[in-house]
Amino acid sequence: MTGVLVLNATYEPLSIVSVRRAIVLLLKEKAEIIEATEALLRAEQTTLPVPSVIRLVSYVRIPHRLSLPVTRRTVLARDNYTCQYCGLVFPKAELTIDHVVPRSHGGPHAWENVVTACLRCNQHKGSRTPEQAHMPLLSKPSSPRYVALVLLLQGRAHASWDKYMF
Ligand SMILES: [Zn+2]
Repeated sequence: MTGVLVLNATYEPLSIVSVRRAIVLLLKEKAEIIEATEALLRAEQTTLPVPSVIRLVSYVRIPHRLSLPVTRRTVLARDNYTCQYCGLVFPKAELTIDHVVPRSHGGPHAWENVVTACLRCNQHKGSRTPEQAHMPLLSKPSSPRYVALVLLLQGRAHASWDKYMF
């Protein structure tokens, strides 16, 4: 995967765009190069290094809650494939989604009410709340940050992204 990490004017990671899109932003002087790869690229009579990280010149406001679908794939990625009850990491096939407040008790299918659980913990908890089952959660589930999730799902393209992401 080749992509360019876009930082907000405040150096906060914002999104990932194609190299072509990044070059357009650079040529229009809407962004500046922060990190580049060894490769060079010809564009509009100039030679540019191929960027790996760019920063927008002006600040872009981002809404607090970005609506990402709550799916098995995104929930497992958010929780780093770690059972939120026993704290162990499992292969994807051995993990399930648990509704903290069970759906049968009116619990919503929302980021704040879903966690990754291993088969054993999920079975043990059954249709009880964590309190009823005496199974405290490792952390309170919440809506993930968009960029963090995209990176978890796609894998990082450049080591140079790390210092901006983590
Ligand atoms: Zn478990």
